[in-house]
Amino acid sequence: MDRLASPTLTIIVPVKDEEDGIAPFVARVGPILDAVPTVDQWEILFIDDGSLDATMAAILVANQQEPRVRAISLSRNFGKEAALSAGLDHAQGQAVIPIDVDLQDPPEVIGEMVAKWRDGFEVVYGVRRNRESDSLPKRLTADLYYRAHNWLSADKIPEHAGDFRLLDRKVVDVICRMPERNRFMKGLFAWSGFRQAAVEYDRVERTIGTTKFRYWKLWTLALDGITSASTVPLRVWSYVGGVIAMLSLVYAAYVAIHTLVSGVDVPGYASMMVAILFFGGLQLLSLGILGEYVGRILTETKQRPIYVVRDQIGMGDH
Ligand code: UDP
Ligand code: MG
Repeated sequence: MDRLASPTLTIIVPVKDEEDGIAPFVARVGPILDAVPTVDQWEILFIDDGSLDATMAAILVANQQEPRVRAISLSRNFGKEAALSAGLDHAQGQAVIPIDVDLQDPPEVIGEMVAKWRDGFEVVYGVRRNRESDSLPKRLTADLYYRAHNWLSADKIPEHAGDFRLLDRKVVDVICRMPERNRFMKGLFAWSGFRQAAVEYDRVERTIGTTKFRYWKLWTLALDGITSASTVPLRVWSYVGGVIAMLSLVYAAYVAIHTLVSGVDVPGYASMMVAILFFGGLQLLSLGILGEYVGRILTETKQRPIYVVRDQIGMGDH
C-alpha cells in the first residue's frame, strides 16, 4: 500500500521554536498511535510556525527515522491559530487531532477520543479536569473569558476545553471552507456544530521549552474570539444610548420644573463635570469597540492568505 495513502488519523502539531520538543514528542506519541485500536495508518504533521531555531532540522531527523512524521513550514510566524489552519488544510486523515508539542495534554487520551469517534461523535474535545498547571491569574482570566464569551455569543465554547480535540473529516472540511482570516479556532469549532462528546484529562506543567503565550497575546486572542463570534458589543451601545437619552429627558424635565419653581440654580459644577467625563468616557469606549470591529473588517476585506508555506517535509505531491 502507498505510504502516503490516506491515513486514518492525523495529529497536527503547531510548533514555534521547539527544537528540543520534537524528538520527545515523536518518541512518546508514536507508540501510543501504534497501539490505538482501529487506527492502522497515522501521520504526525508538524506545522513549523516560523521557528528561528533548529526546529525544522529536528523534524527532518525525526522524518528520517519515522516517515510518518511530516511537516510544512510557514514563511514566518503567523500565530498558533493560523498554524492550526495550515495543519487542517494539509491533514490527510479521516480524523484529525491538534495537540501542543509540549505534551501538557496527555497523548494517552487519544485512544479514548478515537473510541468515542468510532461511536459516532464527530467532535471529541478534551476537558481539563484541573487547571493547577496554570497560574492563578491565568486561571481567573480564562474563567472570566469563557464566561464573557458564552454570555455574548450564541456559539458556546465548552469551558476548560483547549485545542486538544478529535475532529472528524466532515468537521475539518467545514472549518477549511470557512473563509475568514481571523481564525479563533475554538470559536470556529463551536460554530460548526456536529455531535460532540468530551473526555476528561489532567493537564500537566510544561517540562520542555517555554510558553509562547504572554498576557498581551492572550488578550489579543480573547478580543479576536469575542469580536469574531458576537456583535453584541457593537449593538449594546444603542441600548445604552437609549436608556441614557430617556434618563436625560426625565432629568431635563426636572431641571425645567425646578427652574420654574425656585429660579436659576447656578452652582452645578460637580454634576456638570461628572456628566461630561462620564459621557466622554462612554463615547471613547464605544468608539474603541467600533474600531476593533472596523479593523477586523479591514483585515477580512484584504483577502490575504491565512498563512504562506515555505517548505515541506515528507508530504509527497500533496
Ligand atoms: N505555537 C505556535 N505559534 C506561536 C506560538 C505558539 O505554533 O506563535 C505553538 C507552540 O509551539 C506549542 C503550542 O503552540 O506547540 C502551544 O504553545 P504554548 O505551550 O507556549 O502555550 P500554553 O500551553 O502556554 O498556552
Ligand atoms: Mg503549553
